[in-house]
Amino acid sequence: MAENTGLMTEVAVVGAGPAGLLAAIALAAAGIDTVLIGRRAPEDHRTTALMAGSVTALETLGVWPLCRDHAAALKTLRIADATARLLRAPEARFTAAEIDLPAFAHNIENRHLVAAMEARAEMLPTLRRLPLNARAVTTGQEARIALDDDSAIAAQLVIGADGARSLCRAAAGIATRQRPYPQHALTYNIGHARAHGNVSTEFHTEAGPFTLVPLPGLRSSVICVVDPPEAEDLHALDDEALSRETERRSHFVLGKVSVEPGRGLFPLAAETAETFARARIALVGEAAHRVPPIGAQGLNLGLRDAATIAELVTDAVAAGRDPGGEAVLSRYDTMRASDVRGRTIAIDLLNRSLLSGFLPVQGARGLGLYLLNRIGPLRRAVMREGIAPQLAQPRLMRGDTLP
Ligand SMILES: Cc1cc2nc3c(=O)[nH]c(=O)nc-3n(C[C@H](O)[C@H](O)[C@H](O)COP(=O)(O)OP(=O)(O)OC[C@H]3O[C@@H](n4cnc5c(N)ncnc54)[C@H](O)[C@@H]3O)c2cc1C
Repeated sequence: MAENTGLMTEVAVVGAGPAGLLAAIALAAAGIDTVLIGRRAPEDHRTTALMAGSVTALETLGVWPLCRDHAAALKTLRIADATARLLRAPEARFTAAEIDLPAFAHNIENRHLVAAMEARAEMLPTLRRLPLNARAVTTGQEARIALDDDSAIAAQLVIGADGARSLCRAAAGIATRQRPYPQHALTYNIGHARAHGNVSTEFHTEAGPFTLVPLPGLRSSVICVVDPPEAEDLHALDDEALSRETERRSHFVLGKVSVEPGRGLFPLAAETAETFARARIALVGEAAHRVPPIGAQGLNLGLRDAATIAELVTDAVAAGRDPGGEAVLSRYDTMRASDVRGRTIAIDLLNRSLLSGFLPVQGARGLGLYLLNRIGPLRRAVMREGIAPQLAQPRLMRGDTLP
């Protein structure tokens, strides 16, 4: 069938996961002609701890009121060393009140976050949704996206929000640097007898962290990072056996546990694109970077990507400049590079220090946590930086609307 090349737009966003949805909403809310290409994702029971800047951006864009009732505030972070090693780190506790915040983050199931974004997207007249997949992207004076119904669309800029195996990234000829880890993450949600008190607890074990993150009411999400065979074994347990195992691994801090339906199993890797934009294509979310789920950074980085590219495009269009031109793309790459690379390195170091059987590395991790516990200004600086970069927060994350 011949391609229908009739449709044109200023910006086409490929991929309707949370990063793509946020980029499309931010652009359309600022009056930019936007097309969102992607089928609705299957329900994702994983949760995301949204940091303050992400919540502010969602609030500014009218998404947060549609999902805030499904989110739980995370007011205290507790890190406990559950290894059997000779040098064990002291327990560390961080409270949001120490840095004058009501909460470090709000934890929400991705299915509720995405449903709220979908609902908001439908309200925006400058946002057209094509429930299709992109089959190919070519670029030149403009970008052309061939779709899987044999139609095509022309755009000045393509935002590649199409996940870890990004077609847009390949079309731009952007390579990635990858580091696989000998770990899988098993994710599931639980109901429990004892109140979590808005405390998230991370038990550090020799295989990786076992983390409990509060959800509204007597519910929490679990991220259990272990080696692949152990992850497969846990994944295969029936609900009753996994509930008992969860009680044991969580040292009964939440009392009696019952596992809910909806488990996920994810091989862990760090992967970063060598550049975040080239040839009329800008990458956001996991198309640009993937990090292990330690410190709840992944989607928060992705939402900062989306808010940043939306800001640069809006400014360019307002000034009569090409939204997919070299100036916008190189500025985007510069603005995202240190945030993404710095966090990827920090997460990698923390994860490797957990996996290391080498005594001096274990000692250094223990000393690091000891110093964090004892030195107030260092502790507060690390907490603030963990939530958001102190420099270059995009405007939406500071509560300003675009343009
Ligand atoms: C176990 C685990 C726990 C996590 N916990 C947290 C956390 O607490 N906090 C946090 O910030 N992050 C967390 N993350 C990271 C977070 O889940 C990801 O960063 C996020 O889901 C990525 O969103 P995305 O929109 O970039 O990609 P995706 O959700 O992968 O969306 C990409 C979309 O693009 C679509 N697509 C692909 N190809 C095409 C195509 N050719 N045409 C059209 N559509 C296409 C896909 O179908 C998909 O819908 C966690 C990750 C894991 C694995």
